[in-house]
Amino acid sequence: MALEKAIEALRRELGPQNVITTPEELICYSYDATADLPEGRPDVVVTPENTEQVVKVVKIARQFRLPVYPRGSGTNLSGGTVPLKGGIVLATVKMNRILEIDPANLTATVQPGVIIQELNNAVAPYGLIYPPDPGTVATATMGGSVAECSGGLRGLKYGVTRNYVMGLEVVLANGEVLRCGGKTVKNVTGYDLVRLFTGSEGTLGIITEIIVRLIPAPPARETMLAGFSCLADAGNAVTQIIEHKIIPATLEIMDRVTVEVVESYARIGLPTDVAALLLIEVDGLPEVVKAEAETVKKIVTQNNGWIKTAENEAQRENLLAARRAALPALARVKPTTILEDATVPRSKITDMLLALEEIAKKYNILIGTFGHAGDGNLHPTILADARDEEEMNRVRAAVEEIFRVAISLGGTLTGEHGIGLAKKRFLPWEMGETGVWVLKQIKKALDPDNLLNPGKIVDLTQEERN
Ligand SMILES: Cc1cc2nc3c(=O)[nH]c(=O)nc-3n(C[C@H](O)[C@H](O)[C@H](O)COP(=O)(O)OP(=O)(O)OC[C@H]3O[C@@H](n4cnc5c(N)ncnc54)[C@H](O)[C@@H]3O)c2cc1C
Repeated sequence: MALEKAIEALRRELGPQNVITTPEELICYSYDATADLPEGRPDVVVTPENTEQVVKVVKIARQFRLPVYPRGSGTNLSGGTVPLKGGIVLATVKMNRILEIDPANLTATVQPGVIIQELNNAVAPYGLIYPPDPGTVATATMGGSVAECSGGLRGLKYGVTRNYVMGLEVVLANGEVLRCGGKTVKNVTGYDLVRLFTGSEGTLGIITEIIVRLIPAPPARETMLAGFSCLADAGNAVTQIIEHKIIPATLEIMDRVTVEVVESYARIGLPTDVAALLLIEVDGLPEVVKAEAETVKKIVTQNNGWIKTAENEAQRENLLAARRAALPALARVKPTTILEDATVPRSKITDMLLALEEIAKKYNILIGTFGHAGDGNLHPTILADARDEEEMNRVRAAVEEIFRVAISLGGTLTGEHGIGLAKKRFLPWEMGETGVWVLKQIKKALDPDNLLNPGKIVDLTQEERN
């Protein structure tokens, strides 16, 4: 009865065209891109068109004690949008306007439903780029990537989303609208709320407007493909490139399993007789690019590898497409694709690569590893079949071991995919009980009733709420 009243109120405030309740449509919002997690059916999905409507949704949710799950394109890999406890999914699909491009201040202001690539297309005529570049750049939203603090192929040189968010408008759990940060290059007023909400995974507030920093597009670049017949050589080349103080825009790795699968899927002429391939792109001023490319070539050769350069834009696109195809290609091998996000200090990349090989053998599972090797962020991808319970038990044990090893090497649980539902059980390993307690205090201060994306990052028990 209460639910019916809530849906009635939502229809009244947002218009019936912005309220979805048919069972077949609700199913589409019950999962995201993450494998091996429980699903949850929402009671209703809303598609607000502006901040005022988001405020109304939050107020109705409070009144009827319904959870609210903000959702962009649902491409996250941590179970971040699964509506575990029923309630309202708030999809930002209709808040998709670029509000301003400001070349004088090198900023853009967008609504959360804008697709990342659309922003890049819009700023290109000004000679500018928005660097965060996840594999889903053509589908993921700005709101989802800010809430997830996503990274991507250019993360090594340009950092993650956090490095580009300058200001936010956020609807809080009590229905108040907070504006923090802005267009100034410097801003040290109070606590850094922009950073707090960036990466908060929809658990502290609903982002309704975003000001981002843009940078000048680099005038030159060189894209190279290097091959190695020994995995450790590839890892050592990565470490030495950085040791030589070269920060490529892109320094990606694909191991043998990944290369074979990508080639049989995309047929782009990748050599399959290798233990690993590195995709390397240096960018900047032409003289710098030339000098850096020379050093990279020397390092690869010294580490027993071969290297060739993309000679035109078509060849470059081909190489980038090969890397972007890694996950979809691996996903075809077996029904269940579990993509992990283990991240270690860059000097430990070889140790992590070798450990992953050992873990695959020990648990007798198939792991394809690719990822942003230059920033230590690997994506070991386990190919399995969720219907085979015995295999899944081995997979789960392997996942635990991957994270134990990453942390023991001074690494982290996630370099870019967030904690969500998938990794919250591991949080104390990295943050300790005190760290988790601090997270809970923040959650309690901003969302004491646990209504915003409950079950993600930290849970507040009834006792903890009081
Ligand atoms: C093939 C593939 C490749 C990928 N490659 C990368 C990669 O290279 N790097 C990387 O970092 N990630 C990658 N991802 C993960 C994913 O694409 C990113 O995390 C992306 O930024 C999520 O955007 P989204 O719009 O799909 O968000 P969603 O999945 O819809 O949501 C993500 C989180 O943000 C919250 N949220 C969404 N909108 C809002 C809002 N307006 N306010 C508050 N909270 C909100 C949600 O509740 C959820 O917790 C990849 C995923 C796939 C499937």
